[in-house]
Amino acid sequence: TYVITTLCIGSKDASCVEVCPVDAIHPAPEDEAFEAVEQLFIDPRLCIDCDACRTVCPMEAIYTKATVPPDQAASVRENAAFYT
Ligand code: SF4
Repeated sequence: TYVITTLCIGSKDASCVEVCPVDAIHPAPEDEAFEAVEQLFIDPRLCIDCDACRTVCPMEAIYTKATVPPDQAASVRENAAFYT
């Protein structure tokens, strides 16, 4: 599973959305709970670990779940929470 970290905030470049073969990447919904979250998220139920998104991200905001930097650990939970 791949994870988009908060390094996406302020960019939302969305190159990742274009290359994802399973359409697993979406912006936060228009919902109170995500109102302030200006970034994209990866659906862990759909991601097939192809690595395409990570390589095109200009912010280097995307990591595998296992390699997310410690200071971005909350992003693992946030990406999953968005889709449950
Ligand atoms: Fe989509 Fe591949 Fe990125 Fe997973 S690793 S979110 S399948 S582009």
